[in-house]
Amino acid sequence: MYVICPNGDCGFSKGFERNEPLDKFCPLCGKPLIDECPNCAAYLSTRGATFCSKCGELLKKSPQA
Ligand SMILES: [Zn+2]
Ligand SMILES: [Zn+2]
Repeated sequence: MYVICPNGDCGFSKGFERNEPLDKFCPLCGKPLIDECPNCAAYLSTRGATFCSKCGELLKKSPQA
């Protein structure tokens, strides 16, 4: 399993073992991390993914200025 930071300006991602508790917040920018696609709820299967591999949803968003 993987978590990624949804902040488009931040490259944080991390892999976890199946039963390991996931980190909740990015240690680099403080945003809540995501472990599934916000559109289709598929678990992230690629470390550092930018798009959902199941539905193509953009996972990393640039912060609103
Ligand atoms: Zn971040
Ligand atoms: Zn998706």
